[in-house]
Amino acid sequence: MSRVFNFSAGPAVLPVEVLEQAQSEMLDWRSSGMSVMEMSHRGKDFMEIAQQAEADLRELLAVPSNYKILFLQGGASTQFALMPMNFVKPGSKAGYIITGSWSQKAVKEAGKWCQAVVVADSGSPNYSEVPTQDDLDLGNDLNYVHYTPNETIDGVEFPYIPETGDIPLIADYSSSILSEPIPVEKYGMIYAGAQKNIGCAGLVLVIIREDLLNAKINKLPSIFDYSVLAAADSMYNTPSTYAWYIAGLVFQWLKKLGGLQAMAARNKRKADKLYKAIDDSDFYQNPVSPTCRSRMNVPFTLANPDLDGLFLSEAAQNQLLSLKGHRSVGGMRASIYNAMPEQGVNALIDFMQQFASRNS
Ligand SMILES: *Cc1c(COP(=O)(O)O)cnc(C)c1O
Repeated sequence: MSRVFNFSAGPAVLPVEVLEQAQSEMLDWRSSGMSVMEMSHRGKDFMEIAQQAEADLRELLAVPSNYKILFLQGGASTQFALMPMNFVKPGSKAGYIITGSWSQKAVKEAGKWCQAVVVADSGSPNYSEVPTQDDLDLGNDLNYVHYTPNETIDGVEFPYIPETGDIPLIADYSSSILSEPIPVEKYGMIYAGAQKNIGCAGLVLVIIREDLLNAKINKLPSIFDYSVLAAADSMYNTPSTYAWYIAGLVFQWLKKLGGLQAMAARNKRKADKLYKAIDDSDFYQNPVSPTCRSRMNVPFTLANPDLDGLFLSEAAQNQLLSLKGHRSVGGMRASIYNAMPEQGVNALIDFMQQFASRNS
């Protein structure tokens, strides 16, 4: 078997232990005689898988009992549309904090349904900071405030949770969920696409406070209505059963490693050493202010961009894959999610140092 170190931003690396377990259970899940993919979502076996996954996630994130956990389809981008539809009357207002590419996308979609008010914008076109609490303009009738704790493309992460008083706070945690403990009780809703820190693309987790579910602000088609999806325990229609199962295996893996405190320590170690290697060299640069650098997505540039192609091809020869930066930012990006082992980060740093000394 030959496994590379995959630094892709998503779909992203999964724990080998999880893939091996899925492989061993592929043809015959626990003597059921069939693959999880082939099971009825309403049968006893899948119900057990689904409930165990939810219970494990609830434990890992310490989700309070007045929050529902949904396992939905359509990725994070679908929530960009469902949030305003569920929580705002057309013409009324929702607030958006803009810190990079994903929050920009979210506000743009909301603007098609309601008044999407920018409560702070940390600076297009180059995002290298987050606004302070005092920068947030929280006046006038906002139905919620949305922000992106970790901007996957720009490599910018909030070092604090915005205070929004009585206004429900909603967070797109797609690229940093489960990387550290989150005080769920501070949020009205959290959502996260699965392909970064959870598992298969297409699945999205939505954790939502019950009073928001019950608000029923607009009459919506059932498949777009969080309250309908929640009342059906995420089985209003056939859920992404296999993706739900893989998510459950990842939750078990996280529990075995010691939960989110342990992950937080491991992720900090990985990120600190990679940023240090960048900062200690004249050859590499990271543009983000040190107080809000992402622990999950580390963009960096080479002092001489003519060497980008050579860097990528030599990295690939060293089994270090998917390091090309997002087309909107350029340069490189190393995504070092939960499932990226520390050896992968060490191998990247070794390669970067050798490449720099050969080409300086
Ligand atoms: C990847 C990502 C998305 C988009 O996820 P999809 O599942 O492709 O819709 C949204 N927000 C953030 C922060 C992301 O990292």
